[in-house]
Amino acid sequence: MYTLFYILQGFTSTFLYYVNPFYHKKMKKLFKHRISLCESCILFKKSTRQCSVCDCFMDIKTKCIFKLDKEGHALMDSEPACPLKKW
Ligand code: SF4
Repeated sequence: MYTLFYILQGFTSTFLYYVNPFYHKKMKKLFKHRISLCESCILFKKSTRQCSVCDCFMDIKTKCIFKLDKEGHALMDSEPACPLKKW
């Protein structure tokens, strides 16, 4: 059931991203903020632009839509999307 939820959430967010200029601007600012945190992190592998903890490609992962915890950190299921909870 979660999978269907995430698929629908992804479609909705992508749709809004391209048709709603306010949402587009807000999300672009968020994505830039996330990648700037990664680029200044000691665990960021500049050569491949991956996180050395989770091995994710950060140019992609930072553009994903996540649920947020109480402190505003992105969550993948119940785990923080950023292993160090920087974003
Ligand atoms: S996801 Fe977190 S731990 Fe990994 S590179 Fe980005 S800021 Fe650093």
